[in-house]
Amino acid sequence: MKLSHIEHIGIAVKNLEESIRFYEDVLGLECYAIEEVKDQKVKTAFFMLGQTKIELLESTDPEGPIGKFIEKKGQGVHHLAFAVEGIEKSLEKMQEKGVQLIDKTPRKGAEGLDIAFLHPKSTNGVLMEFCENKNKS
Ligand code: ZN
Repeated sequence: MKLSHIEHIGIAVKNLEESIRFYEDVLGLECYAIEEVKDQKVKTAFFMLGQTKIELLESTDPEGPIGKFIEKKGQGVHHLAFAVEGIEKSLEKMQEKGVQLIDKTPRKGAEGLDIAFLHPKSTNGVLMEFCENKNKS
């Protein structure tokens, strides 16, 4: 298993449009994609920063994972996503090492990536995501 870099940082926001304006007008970044991920009940906006993305997440349903997160903790950093090579194998490795998985097998996330979450109970409080771009070469 190899983690190559931080693929993205997921940030929960209340209002996607307002937040995009902050990242564009104040920070000078450019939103290059907006995508709804029905499966996770979110609308996402992406910014590229080197090889790391910032993923803003607005809930489309108060009962969805981001809706609940904001209800409990307010806006802020939600998860850290690592790019991995061989996501299935990596998840098996994690399980062997006793890490609790939210997704035992990968599912489809934004941008067509295969993604899976590790439980924050097993990672010292950080919700971690593994992701792999299988469309790439
Ligand atoms: Zn993510």
